[in-house]
Amino acid sequence: MKNQDISRRNFLLKMSAASGVSLGMAGILTGCGGGGESETADLEPVAETPVVAEEVSCTDVSGLTESEASMRDALSYVDTSTEEGKTCANCALYTVAADGENCGGCTLLKGPIHPEGYCISWAVQTA
Ligand code: SF4
Repeated sequence: MKNQDISRRNFLLKMSAASGVSLGMAGILTGCGGGGESETADLEPVAETPVVAEEVSCTDVSGLTESEASMRDALSYVDTSTEEGKTCANCALYTVAADGENCGGCTLLKGPIHPEGYCISWAVQTA
């Protein structure tokens, strides 16, 4: 009878240890995102460019001189980039719009610049 108590005791201890390891692994997997639905699944992706309504136009060159306006044409400026991963918003020469304005600026081209625009002088940002 005493040997059976010891065996039962050993059995329960081993089961307890095994379940503890199992629960610990479940916690680790959950913490790493491997234990079910990830906690980040509900998060919104980070926007790469400022949110600007598609109907916003940044092509008004009425305040520019003729040479400033023609420079925009010479560099093929457009409000909507067709170059994968290249927009004014991620160009080194882009300047962010003042509060409440949709169009930003550019240190190279005069006039309003759409964050989703592009020209052939697009430059990669450093730092
Ligand atoms: S250089 Fe061209 S791509 Fe860069 S911000 Fe100015 S207009 Fe946009």
